[in-house]
Amino acid sequence: MTTLIFTHSDCFAHDTGPGHPEAPERLAVVWEVLDREEFRGLERRDAPEAGVEQLARVHDRAYVDMVLDGVPAQGYHRLDGDTLLSPGSRGAILRAAGSVCAAVDAVMTGEAANAFCAVRPCGHHAEPARAMGFCVFNNIAVGALHARDRHGLSRIAVVDFDVHHGNGTQSMFTDDPELFFASTHQSPLYPGTGAPWERGVADNILNLPLEPYSGSVEFRQAMERAILPALEAFAPELLLISAGFDAHARDPLAQLGLTGADFEWVTRKLVETADRHCGGRVVSVLEGGYDAVGLAEGCAAHLRALMRA
Ligand SMILES: [Zn+2]
Repeated sequence: MTTLIFTHSDCFAHDTGPGHPEAPERLAVVWEVLDREEFRGLERRDAPEAGVEQLARVHDRAYVDMVLDGVPAQGYHRLDGDTLLSPGSRGAILRAAGSVCAAVDAVMTGEAANAFCAVRPCGHHAEPARAMGFCVFNNIAVGALHARDRHGLSRIAVVDFDVHHGNGTQSMFTDDPELFFASTHQSPLYPGTGAPWERGVADNILNLPLEPYSGSVEFRQAMERAILPALEAFAPELLLISAGFDAHARDPLAQLGLTGADFEWVTRKLVETADRHCGGRVVSVLEGGYDAVGLAEGCAAHLRALMRA
């Protein structure tokens, strides 16, 4: 049993324009990490394209059609202030969502202990009928609903340690007691949601906002005192991770001050929880991370902890 990697070269073709932080170079950084000696043995699989029916489990069908029809033949098509489609976006956005479904299938059928989806664009800000914050389709929510429909699960958890609040995932989970969403994020910061009193229909939403310039101590306390016990009580049948590395101290978009050691620690804790409840079934999906060094350090630390599972 090992860690599977789902990725695809089509994810480089989503062009966000000059100077955009969510650039193809981010995926190049992750691929460089995967090429390191310590990760070279990990099996890499092509991320398949998600089908419209998979996307429509969490997104309005009209939104899915609007996005796919909006992929331009040339130039850019703007969906949101900072979310664009380019001619190469179709493959990227479909494979980013499809990667999570394929990873769920592989982990649920016991082909691997866990899996990491090295894809872009990120997904956790995408709402049922709206692109937001570099995100077009909500990759992790598509994977969660796929797990329920395809594999008959009724307790699926997402833990999101991206520095931004996963408003999209929360909005898709909040009225559904079979889905649990917990997030640490910097506040105040984009998108402005994620207050502690946003709890969901069955206390199935748990938000731990952290002040700017919080660091390892505050992050680990939020995990140990709140998120890990709640996850333990929820007893997931599958654990999904929104793995953003923009809480790294070097990241230009936030000020949370985490290090590689923190990403390794939190991943280990999450894997241990999954070991106790669901045979270690974990699927992790790349979200943000906008400094090349910070992204590489966070990603490598995360993979090390997944591989030790
Ligand atoms: Zn982020």
